[in-house]
Amino acid sequence: MKLFDQQQIKIYNTLSGEKELFKPLNEGYVGMYVCGPTVYSNVHLGNVRTFMSFDMIFRYLKHLGYKVRYVRNITDAGHLENDADVGEDRIAKKARLEEIEPMEVVQRYTVDFHNILNKFNFLPPSIEPTATGHIIEQIEIIKEIINNGFAYEVNGSVYFDVLKYNESKPYGILSKRKVEDLIHNTRALDGQSDKKNPQDFALWKKAEPQHIMRWPSPWSDGFPGWHLECTAMSTKYLGEQFDIHGGGMDLKFPHHECEIAQAEATNNHAPVNYWMHANMLIMNGKKMAKSTGNFILPNEIFSGDNPHITKAYSPSVARFFMLQAHYRSILDFTNDGLLASEKGFFRLIDAINLLDSLKAGNDSSFDINAWQQKCYDAMNDDFNTPIVIANLFEGVKYINQIKDGSATITKNDLIVLKKTMTSFVFDILGLENVSKSETSSEKLSGAVEILIQLRQEARANKDFALSDKIRDELAEAGIQLNDSREGTTFSTN
Ligand SMILES: [Zn+2]
Repeated sequence: MKLFDQQQIKIYNTLSGEKELFKPLNEGYVGMYVCGPTVYSNVHLGNVRTFMSFDMIFRYLKHLGYKVRYVRNITDAGHLENDADVGEDRIAKKARLEEIEPMEVVQRYTVDFHNILNKFNFLPPSIEPTATGHIIEQIEIIKEIINNGFAYEVNGSVYFDVLKYNESKPYGILSKRKVEDLIHNTRALDGQSDKKNPQDFALWKKAEPQHIMRWPSPWSDGFPGWHLECTAMSTKYLGEQFDIHGGGMDLKFPHHECEIAQAEATNNHAPVNYWMHANMLIMNGKKMAKSTGNFILPNEIFSGDNPHITKAYSPSVARFFMLQAHYRSILDFTNDGLLASEKGFFRLIDAINLLDSLKAGNDSSFDINAWQQKCYDAMNDDFNTPIVIANLFEGVKYINQIKDGSATITKNDLIVLKKTMTSFVFDILGLENVSKSETSSEKLSGAVEILIQLRQEARANKDFALSDKIRDELAEAGIQLNDSREGTTFSTN
């Protein structure tokens, strides 16, 4: 019997607006697709949070014994500015500004994305396909949508006919929008567009002469519309119908709405059973934006090199901080929040590090099985990580009580306690057992400052043997002292 037979998950489905019992299409198997990044700049912390939510979900599904195929794409073409059908391709624009090839932009920011995710201890997805690697599949889908009467070609571009589609299928089903309102709210066409109606969206765009990223197609040399790649890649790797589709809240409309319409127009049935959306990350109560300075890059959290934080934080502390909010709640990123999370995180890790030293006795003063089930219940309730963490702190309290002799535990219960703590903390939440010294760069610099001062005193006393000894032994420990007229600073390698 697999764990998933005993632990039944409820998932909040954006489509129904309710928590639903999760039942995969094929027993024991889960297909999950998550919209990945457009690789034209350093990954945004808000996106990291979204991907972290699905990393945690991926980890939990695997923990329960499901065989999960997790597909997360890389958008390396077709995503235009303002998520619109007109404007410059984001990657091509960056390439033009930096005077490099678009594929150099793609490579640079794909590497950055993977580096950051590795630091945060993400599991790699099962497949990470790219839009440019699936142009043929996208062209085939466009052909089918045209054949089925839901798209039209004008001057080498192909558009999805939203009004035609809406005659037989509801467009706006996911974001709860009505086509009538969309018509009302969409800007009037400026005469430049080939679209029949402003709410139609591009499946294929004819490339302007200056557009670099282009491919041949039956309609023109051009490029696919942004929404199409996800339909092509999810269908290819997970089938016409699969279990879970996830992404950030901002993708609900138009991106995911268009994915549903494309798949329905191709296969005449809904592509996805459970639509999941992770909420936004804000900073200091305001939207994060480079232009206002209310902004932090993930790497700056680890280095402490940002005016909005007072110190460096380890990736596990930042991960713990993010998982202390439910994935469907807005998360406010603040220095105070991180400081509090750091304390909590080390309380948790310290307790886990005590587990091997605990002595078992004849009875348990704690109902370990009920506590373990409470941990599962929280995860089963739409992956409620803040409640899971609260329950884990009950475990911490118990561990500390056993250690100081005010509580007891049997040998068997101790095995359950160990297994539950470590599997939830490390396997499911994806935290790492980092020691405090690895993160306390402040303490290190405090200690080095003392040594610099002692060395100065030695030099003042003409005790050069001692001053050289301090410098050389620090260098051996990987800390270089740099003397200058302004004084001595240090650097680590
Ligand atoms: Zn997508």
